[in-house]
Amino acid sequence: MKLIDTHAHLDEIEDIQGALTRAKEAGVWAIVGVGADLTSNEKILELANQYGGFVLPALGLHPWRLNTDDLEANFALIERNLPQCLALGEVGLDFAIETPRDKQEKILRRLLAVAFREQKPVLLHARRAWGEALALLKSFKIEKAVLHWYSGPADILREVLESGYLISATPAVAYSERHREAICLAPLRQLLLETDAPEIYRGRPSEPKDLLLTLDSVSKLKNQEPEEIARQTFANAQDFFGLPLA
Ligand SMILES: [Zn+2]
Repeated sequence: MKLIDTHAHLDEIEDIQGALTRAKEAGVWAIVGVGADLTSNEKILELANQYGGFVLPALGLHPWRLNTDDLEANFALIERNLPQCLALGEVGLDFAIETPRDKQEKILRRLLAVAFREQKPVLLHARRAWGEALALLKSFKIEKAVLHWYSGPADILREVLESGYLISATPAVAYSERHREAICLAPLRQLLLETDAPEIYRGRPSEPKDLLLTLDSVSKLKNQEPEEIARQTFANAQDFFGLPLA
């Protein structure tokens, strides 16, 4: 059984070496490390260098990290390094925070333009902004995108799926009703698995080995064998990120 953690904040994990070893032992084949700001992107690039082939880099600018004075330096880093990376992410919109929507949208537009130019997939955070994020993806003619940890309304999800985009499942599938509904609705071929580590689930910080918890919950929810969920979501990730067939 092969698995890819398609979204982990590896730069935020304390015992990174231990976490990567435990993930490998648990059967995780590769981890997509996502960046959130300048420092985080630099660390992700370092980790990808250090653990080549196992840590796969994505560069981003998280909507929670827009109020810093190194935004332009981060844009420059992304433009310079994205061609050698797997994807743009984590980027997005979050209308549950105070940062003005127009500021968030302006920055996301700049980032999507880079992703389009480099033809890279986009890893999107879109809390309470699912429809707005989808509209931007379409207007920038982004071909490949995943709405990470989708927990928005079903009608927008239908449009996401019809547009050929994917959604991803986190360990919150075990208990979050909105997230469960989305994972139930999405066909298996439009699903990716992730941990969003070190996100805290039910009081416990996660790490990439917890991808097995995501797998187990998705398997139970969809009433399909874990092996089948693993096989299909692994194939989805390979196709989405353009990874060599392993
Ligand atoms: Zn994340």
